[in-house]
Amino acid sequence: MIPFFPPDLFEEDRSELLETVYAVGTDPRQRFILGERTAAFEDALRERLGAADVVACSSGTTALSLVLSAMGVGPGDEVVVPALGCAPLAASVCGLGAVPVFADVDPWRLVADPAAAEAAVTPRTRALMPAHMFSVMADMPRFTEIAQRRGLRLIEDSAVAQGGVLAGRPAGLWGEAGVFSFVQVKTFGTAGEGGAVVTADPELGRWVRMLRNHGQDGVHRFVHHRVGYNSRFDEILAGFQLHRLPGLDARLDRRARIAEYYTSRFAELGPHGVVAPPPGREGRCFYVYTLLAERRDDLEAHLARAGVDTHVYYPQPLPHQPAFAPYAPPGAHWPAAESAARRNLSLPVFPHLSDAQVEHIADSVCAFARQSRSETP
Ligand SMILES: *Cc1c(COP(=O)(O)O)cnc(C)c1O
Repeated sequence: MIPFFPPDLFEEDRSELLETVYAVGTDPRQRFILGERTAAFEDALRERLGAADVVACSSGTTALSLVLSAMGVGPGDEVVVPALGCAPLAASVCGLGAVPVFADVDPWRLVADPAAAEAAVTPRTRALMPAHMFSVMADMPRFTEIAQRRGLRLIEDSAVAQGGVLAGRPAGLWGEAGVFSFVQVKTFGTAGEGGAVVTADPELGRWVRMLRNHGQDGVHRFVHHRVGYNSRFDEILAGFQLHRLPGLDARLDRRARIAEYYTSRFAELGPHGVVAPPPGREGRCFYVYTLLAERRDDLEAHLARAGVDTHVYYPQPLPHQPAFAPYAPPGAHWPAAESAARRNLSLPVFPHLSDAQVEHIADSVCAFARQSRSETP
């Protein structure tokens, strides 16, 4: 079986992880969170990106909450988010007492459609929060233009897009603030939970840094300037991520090469009901490689028989989820998100797949599409 999540993901770094556990655990200072490794990790990410500030925190989800909170989003406010995506997009908004307003996605690129997002703006809208999804970055130049013209804050959910670049600007630096997630499945995943806020705005970064640790300023302990969160970063994982950072570009490149190969093999399958994602590397981030298939469940079963594990992200649009339906206008529809939720299927794209495995996966998808054609008169 070719797994979707490789069990040997951290095999090469295992001894480093064990040594870091020992070093942090036996250090007389006993700093298990927000120590010197966390500071060095933030500096390394900041320099790599050219950001004004990078604040490591406990997850990508809390990174979104910290940004929204630092911007003062709260009850009475609306935030426009994509209708197709992961729960944190809506939950972070609801958690602050604000209302997520769902915009439909582009039917092929699967990211929020800027025109639909602008159509969702009302006098109560405080912010736009587009997300990079699957392997495509949102249309940030257009979202930037809309946010400026309509006087809205712009938050970039770049949780899956670390390493992506659009029009020369890295993912995370398009919004007033962006976020990363280090949960294992993401491109810079780690052996646990973690996230970061990245921003070109030092003042926003200062507030996020305070909110991460209960509104304290890092100088005066037990002085709480604002109601904050516990979203502190783990010192062991900071050491581990510092160790893994130099290899990130090579791993991202391997993901992109695998995706390019898949897309070249699948280019002709459209008439057979299997559509590959947009080609190229501009504005791409190969966190997952996601097909749209008319007979998605049959393709999933076919690949399972061929020994290929796949995943469905996401089987339902956000406004159809029981948790978020109360925020959606009754009877409203998001046709592109609904169609994509029925058709999406993600293939393994992790960097240490062998060439033979990648070919086997591609062959299996092509065989399914050919057989579909012979079955359809
Ligand atoms: C994973 C993800 C998040 C949340 O990150 P966590 O670290 O899992 O909390 C937010 N947005 C998107 C688009 C994601 O894929």
